[in-house]
Amino acid sequence: MSIALPDLTPEQEVTLLAENFERSYPHEIIAWAAMRYGAGLAVATGFGPEGIVILHILSQVAPQTTVFYLDTGLFFPETYQLRDQLQQKLGLTFTQVTPSLSLEEQEKEYGANLWETNPDLCCRLRKVIPLRAYLATKQAWVTAIRRSQTTQRAHAKAIECDKTNGVVKINPLINWSQEQVWTYLHLFELPYNPLHERGYPSIGCAPCTRPVAQGADPRSGRWVGHQKVECGLHVPGDGG
Ligand code: SF4
Repeated sequence: MSIALPDLTPEQEVTLLAENFERSYPHEIIAWAAMRYGAGLAVATGFGPEGIVILHILSQVAPQTTVFYLDTGLFFPETYQLRDQLQQKLGLTFTQVTPSLSLEEQEKEYGANLWETNPDLCCRLRKVIPLRAYLATKQAWVTAIRRSQTTQRAHAKAIECDKTNGVVKINPLINWSQEQVWTYLHLFELPYNPLHERGYPSIGCAPCTRPVAQGADPRSGRWVGHQKVECGLHVPGDGG
């Protein structure tokens, strides 16, 4: 005897999945996503500690999955070195997604150091718009956000409808604490950005990242002097 399930809208399906996966291990969520979406799935990374946990799990459960990073052209040299180290250690290949404007073209059009004069526009040009263009070819993406990182992320679900980009968004580490992330990295002896040991708990583009005092909000070194705590990748409706 088969049980007939009611027809669900994509939003209803995602709501049910989010409830199901609320207490699942990241391994289960990532393995499910790889099976469900196949080549339509892409994993985003910015090479932060959380991203490295995701990449390590991915290398075990679905190493064929596409991994991409949004290369603003403004990372610290240490971040590019870490990228190469991770590719080699985990056997993954990272797809570089770049903005349509080079840094020189951006300066010509919008003036020098746009990250100082208008960081929202700079993030939109160098991150948000390239992400949207890249995800137009995908069905779902995996991120490494955690609820406790920012107030904007506090209500995120393990699986969500990303209406801005028109895809499903999967957040396998949503319930993890910062301590769990670091325990995992040390347990599996994974490489991480050496800047974390020099006072940079959260690392983005070099012009917008400062070291913070011990015990300060880990993201307080990002966009210092601006009322900005997110680059816009995880803010609904901020799609450029
Ligand atoms: S983090 Fe700073 S440099 Fe990087 S894209 Fe945003 S504003 Fe521009």
